[in-house]
Amino acid sequence: GKGAAMVTAVAYRLATQHAERQRILDALRLSREQLLEVKRRMGEEINRGLAKESHDQATVKMLPTYVRSTPDGTEHGDFLALDLGGTNFRVLLVRVRGGKRRSVEMHNKIYAIPQEAMQGTGEELFDHIVHCIADFLEYMGMKGASLPLGFTFSFPCHQNKLDQGILLKWTKGFKATGCEGEDVVSLLKDAIHRREEFDLDVVAVVNDTVGTMMTCGYEDPLCEVGLIVGTGTNACYMEEMQNVELVEGDEGRMCVNMEWGAFGDHGELDDFSTEFDRAVDDCATNPGKQRYEKLISGMYLGEIVRNVLLEFTAKGLLFRGKLSERLKTRGIFETKFLSQIESDRLALRQVRSILQHLGLTSSTCDDSILVKEVCSVVARRAAQLCGAGLAAVVDKIRQNRNLSELKITVGVDGTLYKLHPHFSSIMHETVRDLAPQCEVTFLQSEDGSGKGAALITAVACRIRDAGQR
Ligand code: BGC
Ligand code: MG
Repeated sequence: GKGAAMVTAVAYRLATQHAERQRILDALRLSREQLLEVKRRMGEEINRGLAKESHDQATVKMLPTYVRSTPDGTEHGDFLALDLGGTNFRVLLVRVRGGKRRSVEMHNKIYAIPQEAMQGTGEELFDHIVHCIADFLEYMGMKGASLPLGFTFSFPCHQNKLDQGILLKWTKGFKATGCEGEDVVSLLKDAIHRREEFDLDVVAVVNDTVGTMMTCGYEDPLCEVGLIVGTGTNACYMEEMQNVELVEGDEGRMCVNMEWGAFGDHGELDDFSTEFDRAVDDCATNPGKQRYEKLISGMYLGEIVRNVLLEFTAKGLLFRGKLSERLKTRGIFETKFLSQIESDRLALRQVRSILQHLGLTSSTCDDSILVKEVCSVVARRAAQLCGAGLAAVVDKIRQNRNLSELKITVGVDGTLYKLHPHFSSIMHETVRDLAPQCEVTFLQSEDGSGKGAALITAVACRIRDAGQR
């Protein structure tokens, strides 16, 4: 009768809506073949970045870091470290003790980098940094002290030596003027001189991936890869000098800062990315740049999710088809919400209360289920893409050494990796699947980037002091 026809109509509508939702989400799901293709293309870009003749055209820059040796345990002394470019800006004092009672002791203070400093002039940014150093020295009761300093500067830099870093381009929302193309050590020194209060001996500029690898390498000698999945994403590893064509010499190995976030900037990922990714890219401070990073890291995942939710709502599949001002607001989905929403212990009504907290009040129970599914699909894709890149790296190292099996440790840091309930396990599983000849151990670093910069500074001072003797 009539009732049955209505039930059928409702069932039909629900089925079409379900199909429509899945069709949209399917664009964000990657097959094993696609992931293998990402691994293959990353491998190609690695080789192009390393080789002199193709380097200029390569997206993955494979930057030499002048870090050749890992700590041997004999280094010691007090060092200052700066850590700029992650979630927080920090100043650290690191006491390294060598020999039998080998240990690393750290004191640090976190400072905010105000939006104006990030996006104003370079002078303002570096004056602010020096102001924080002065405050820290005073806080530690070390005013006027002149210590060797390691600068963790987590942006792509061209280096001709350890204590130099020419900023190639800003990433992650920084855009202070007058810095690109400049040596950040000079910018820092100029700001120190402007203040006329203390002097510092800048010994090393270190990418956060390199600091993380070094910190983990202090515990585990098999650690020859560093990985960051936080606000941004990147990796470094020990490459054969023979393959590092930008630096003279064929002996031994050098750590290479891959800057893999720029993978895709020449369209290498276009066939895997979606309209949502393009929308996120269009609105970023650096459109067209860091395309791989924009699919993976914490700064962008929430925006991808928001764009998917916008589409669902516009199609009448979510929030009763009502587009709220709130949902149209950029940046409302921070990484921590993604982590919370996907937490296994979370009941659906808690998802709903998170949505309410975000100002998305009209949500129903079905809405909560859908939002959670969107978060999970977006995070899974990120973890798999990251795993595919890492699979290319460990396989490259294995091939370099002519091994059929490689045992290696990856030192990892970053808020997304550490805080998200599923990211790390999906990423590990992907690496295992795509690089079956490598046995990869993941080691989480505690405070890796700052400590690592101090260790690199300590190694450099040890070598320098030995040379002077
Ligand atoms: C930067 C890298 C950095 C990574 C993680 C990227 O945006 O280009 O230098 O290692 O973020 O912080
Ligand atoms: Mg960091």
